[in-house]
Amino acid sequence: MLQIRADLVEEIMAHAREEHPHEACGMIAGPEGAERPERFFRMRNAAKPSGDAAAEEREQAHRALVLGEAHAEYEGERRSSLTYYTWDVKERLRAQREMDAADEWPVVIYHSHTRSPAYPSQVDIDVASGPANDPRIHYVIVSTRPDAEPRVHGHDLRSFRIVDGVVTEEEVDVVETYMFAHTGADDVPDLG
Ligand SMILES: [Zn+2]
Repeated sequence: MLQIRADLVEEIMAHAREEHPHEACGMIAGPEGAERPERFFRMRNAAKPSGDAAAEEREQAHRALVLGEAHAEYEGERRSSLTYYTWDVKERLRAQREMDAADEWPVVIYHSHTRSPAYPSQVDIDVASGPANDPRIHYVIVSTRPDAEPRVHGHDLRSFRIVDGVVTEEEVDVVETYMFAHTGADDVPDLG
């Protein structure tokens, strides 16, 4: 189960709506040793045209490598930021360094689908199944397509664990605060 604060859910949706019809992506970090998303990282979808020709060329080469022949197209159309997201590698590294320095990990990695349902695509599954991926990550997908179905907090939002190509959907519990929602052993009142 993913437990997540309502304000973070709203921030994911706000980001997704701002980027629509491009896919939005980001992470929510939390303290190591807990499954508590707290610190929001809005990331850039590097597949989105930036106007910087050199950066776009780098990104396209990277995209061709990640997607390969099988996933280069979606519904007969060449993949772009409308149907695909990828990290800006430098930005992703910077965020990771910040998390490492704060003893945090990316509890949630989110992205949006702007045309399709909030379910991992084969590309999402392949990317999440890479050897460098932490199996603890909660992959949140939201959909901003016109016929989106309100599922969680009025939004088309779902959460998945993706390990070795296997997708497992999990329940999403939206809370106002983690203070009273916490069920770990350290929940015992401190009498000191
Ligand atoms: Zn996706």
